[in-house]
Amino acid sequence: MLHMPVPTLVPRLAASALAACLALPLLAEDGLPTASAADRAEARAIFKQLIEINTTDTPKGNVTTATVAMQKRFLDAGFAADDVHLLGPDPRKQNLVVRMRAAGSPNEKPVLFLCHIDVVEALRSDWHTDPFEFVEKDGYYYGRGTQDMKDSDAALVETFLRLHREGYKPQRDLILALTADEEGGRFNGAQWLVDQHRDLVDAAYVINPDSGGVELDHGRPVVADVEATEKVYSDFQVTAVNRGGHSSLPRPDNAIYELTLALNKLAAYSFPFELNEVTRTYFRSLAGRETGPIRADIKAILATPPSPEAAARLSAEPSFNSNFRTTCVATRLNAGHANNALPQTAQANVNCRIFPGHSPEEIRRQLVAVFGDPKLTVKYVSDEGVVSDTAPARKAIAPPAPIKEVFEPLTRITQQLWPGTPVTPVMENGATDSIYFSWAGIPSYGYSAIALERDDERAHGQDERLPVDSYWKSLDFFYSFARALGSK
Ligand SMILES: [Zn+2]
Repeated sequence: MLHMPVPTLVPRLAASALAACLALPLLAEDGLPTASAADRAEARAIFKQLIEINTTDTPKGNVTTATVAMQKRFLDAGFAADDVHLLGPDPRKQNLVVRMRAAGSPNEKPVLFLCHIDVVEALRSDWHTDPFEFVEKDGYYYGRGTQDMKDSDAALVETFLRLHREGYKPQRDLILALTADEEGGRFNGAQWLVDQHRDLVDAAYVINPDSGGVELDHGRPVVADVEATEKVYSDFQVTAVNRGGHSSLPRPDNAIYELTLALNKLAAYSFPFELNEVTRTYFRSLAGRETGPIRADIKAILATPPSPEAAARLSAEPSFNSNFRTTCVATRLNAGHANNALPQTAQANVNCRIFPGHSPEEIRRQLVAVFGDPKLTVKYVSDEGVVSDTAPARKAIAPPAPIKEVFEPLTRITQQLWPGTPVTPVMENGATDSIYFSWAGIPSYGYSAIALERDDERAHGQDERLPVDSYWKSLDFFYSFARALGSK
């Protein structure tokens, strides 16, 4: 474990013996309770079992097989049947919601741990091992889902089982939801549970281990990112139509020219600069680590009012730019029907990542204004590919300042496991199931407590793998973290 000062003068052996007598968790040298050999064996068995159940959205995959297997573990461990719910809109996409009841009547709303249990398809021919076989090799666990996110699923199932075994009673309910179709498919479990069974998943806030984590650089922890808000994904279909004609008789009106003129206006346009409570905290932390002109510019955007010149300079870097504003970019183009005909249709897809606090419809109207051509239509394309004249008016909540009761224990435990690592809230540009809770007004924090080398991100890719040591640390993290959140 870690080389930190021993917090007590009681020798390690005596402390262990005492812990055994009192049925208390063992304490590592740094004071963090660590999983026993038996806990680890169970955690490994759960991880293996989940990896070896194919939960892809394909004819071979079945989410329900995995959730039923976990349901059995909870019932066998003595969880009340009333607290273990298997439910969903499709027989093959059943979600599992497990509740660990508070002692007495709680003052606070529950904490929800949200874990998708489906994985992205993986082909045996692309991999060096069978993606649906749990293989331990050279200090790694290999298999589809070892990074995304059966590692966290297994660690949290084990955490709930272990807390129950130890007779732990939280001060508020702790809920674990294992859900379907985050990666794709028609039965997103998180969305369905929020819409249809809000009572089962209603919470003060959500912990979603599907994002965030500890970044390693040659084994050295650099930063621990916590996703504290995320942008909203939206596609728009932009169309120019024309009566067409023979290409030997061109006219000034032309669907391709009209569309590309509009797209070039978009290329030159920037949505307004914005900061929210999360990105402000992120940039404050980054200013402490950066040097030179970048540091000066970051300080200048944090000032009141922010410096537009500094914002413009930093925006040249795409990762900064995406943190500053809604972005919209042309991603596909389709036009014309013959080499010798004037185009009758020209169509583009514009993909937007919307800053929290704005609705897709607000952005659609802004695109119409930017294009400034009433002959063009700008329609919304849903995740299912349905095209409509207007976009949803709902918006993700502008995130509250990172909640102290989450960040205090998260930071403390992270620093016990990875000493000296700064913990930074970030705005995610990708999308996770947290968005359904954000729409419902429930804040969500993304943190996997998984340490990965920067260049070893293999989620959705081939030969997905997780360092064995990372798994044990995340297990220890979630045990202490769940106890800390449950004690409020
Ligand atoms: Zn994921």
